[in-house]
Amino acid sequence: MNAAATTNQQTTCLGCGRTLRAPKSIAAQRGPRCAAKVRAAEKTVDTSDYKAHQISSARELIADAAIIPLRSTVFLAVSTDGTETYRSAPTACTCPAGLKGSRCYHQLAARLLLAA
Ligand SMILES: [Zn+2]
Ligand SMILES: [Zn+2]
Repeated sequence: MNAAATTNQQTTCLGCGRTLRAPKSIAAQRGPRCAAKVRAAEKTVDTSDYKAHQISSARELIADAAIIPLRSTVFLAVSTDGTETYRSAPTACTCPAGLKGSRCYHQLAARLLLAA
């Protein structure tokens, strides 16, 4: 029953809305073309304010489809333990670090997605 439910479930690309078939694309909820766009965005977005581990966390967040568009520039990001969700924008975030005014990797992920 679970297998049937999984087969019937269609996953569409968060970037362009096309139906995804490759398991890797489905996991990331992003097709190869849109994934490449996000990777290319890293070259256009200024990441100099971020540490290497934050950049890789932002990358993981996007690859795990743990940050999804909510409306125009606002994204819904899932915390690393999966228990909480934050509202993240390029310059603001509702996570504990973001509320303190720090630049968190959620903001970076939002920036990358908007630049893609
Ligand atoms: Zn796409
Ligand atoms: Zn945050």
